[in-house]
Amino acid sequence: MSESFREALMGKRAEILTTGGIRPLAGTMENNSRQGDMADQANGNNEVHIQLKIKQTDAKILQAIEEALARIDKGTYGACRDCGEPISPARLKAIPWTRVCITCKEKQNS
Ligand SMILES: [Zn+2]
Repeated sequence: MSESFREALMGKRAEILTTGGIRPLAGTMENNSRQGDMADQANGNNEVHIQLKIKQTDAKILQAIEEALARIDKGTYGACRDCGEPISPARLKAIPWTRVCITCKEKQNS
């Protein structure tokens, strides 16, 4: 049963890696301290900012994917990290790398 999730996870991992999802973030940060010419560069900075955000999200997902694959190997995949309850299959299908059930996720957000 977890084999299809493993495939989904590995597919997503390959997708992130092949689109160059992970890049070092150093360098891009320096622009933020230059407040002086922000007005001129506003548009450019916004684009960089959005891209940066995507990269950070990719890095997080990638990390979560690795952890999920490790859990499949250990046989603990599909159990919520916080409460230990099984995560619903629908949720796992939508986000195979998720660590917590929907109840705990909602608690985190509130
Ligand atoms: Zn939970």
